[in-house]
Amino acid sequence: MKDIPPDVVIHDTTLREGEQTPGVVFNIDGKLAIARKLDEVGIQQLESGFPAASPGEKEAVSTIVSEGLKAKIFGFARAVHADIDAVAETGASGIVISFPPSDTQLKYKLKMTREQYLEKAVEAVEHAKGYGLYISYSAEDSTRTDIEFLKKTFATVIEAGVDRARIVDTLGVGTPVTIRNLVYSIRQVVNAPIEIHCHNDHGLAVANTIAAFEAGATALSTCANGLGERTGVAATEEVIICLHNLYGVQIYNTTKLSELCRMIEELSKVSLPANKPVIGDNVFVHTSGIHQHAVLQNPVTYEPYPPELVGQKRRLLLGKLTGTHAVKAKLQEVGYDLPEDKVKEVVAQVKMKSEERSSALSDAEFLEILRNLR
Ligand SMILES: [Zn+2]
Repeated sequence: MKDIPPDVVIHDTTLREGEQTPGVVFNIDGKLAIARKLDEVGIQQLESGFPAASPGEKEAVSTIVSEGLKAKIFGFARAVHADIDAVAETGASGIVISFPPSDTQLKYKLKMTREQYLEKAVEAVEHAKGYGLYISYSAEDSTRTDIEFLKKTFATVIEAGVDRARIVDTLGVGTPVTIRNLVYSIRQVVNAPIEIHCHNDHGLAVANTIAAFEAGATALSTCANGLGERTGVAATEEVIICLHNLYGVQIYNTTKLSELCRMIEELSKVSLPANKPVIGDNVFVHTSGIHQHAVLQNPVTYEPYPPELVGQKRRLLLGKLTGTHAVKAKLQEVGYDLPEDKVKEVVAQVKMKSEERSSALSDAEFLEILRNLR
């Protein structure tokens, strides 16, 4: 793993990309609360909005800047002067200039030739550099761009003053192998840090982000809860836990992740599925009697990492697969000491009740069984 860079930066886009989730709008207080929580986790960069989009958005970015967080604050812009001016006016120290070099986008969206594109890109970069902004040049739709033109684009804008090259899988069409190769190729011609931004249309956003990291990308662009346009982008909390558990990058305050993600769930009104890695309700729930027995001996048997690492709690679910060991542990938890024959009776009732209604029992239902014991 000698190719893995020693320094890694999470460039979180919850406040910009997250608001592009269908139906999601954060108000200024919500944005500020999210920014503070991301900062508590130790995330180094926040892409905090698109100031040119509206006066309210611009005010939100300015307010976040004036909070004086440890995280560096970035604003999002297209390659037009008005967008760049709006970012500079918020006091943000960084800018993401998003400008797509793919033939599809040039033909249908920008209606430009490649020559015109490069000319406009350099002009935008020079304009942003005039403000002294740190520039991440976001080559939107990189994965559908002719590789030679992508290299030329990055080389040209870096020459003009760009600080970081952002490879973007806008349509989520990369795979871990193609993304890894792409990052390697770009690194051959680009003498600047590489950022990766992956969409999740094929469910590969986190895998692709990690593949880019393995290939030497040092800035990982993510969004908490995997929010974002359509199917969203790589989830901040999943990427952080991959880095922490699988690559030894233990620089984030992971115990705050549950708080962060639950806050965003509430503010975005997009519910987290129970089986969502890291912060879903089921991540540390043990259901089968075999697993429960083993976990009671030692949780490492069926937990890849302890719930406390991400601010969660372990739960043993009482249902039709529950065995004596879990029931005994639960009895201890609720302060009951029963003789063996009564424990057996409780186990039988738990199984029966759970089968009757085809679901697990709540704590209240378990207590009711205990109260009704004769
Ligand atoms: Zn995106």
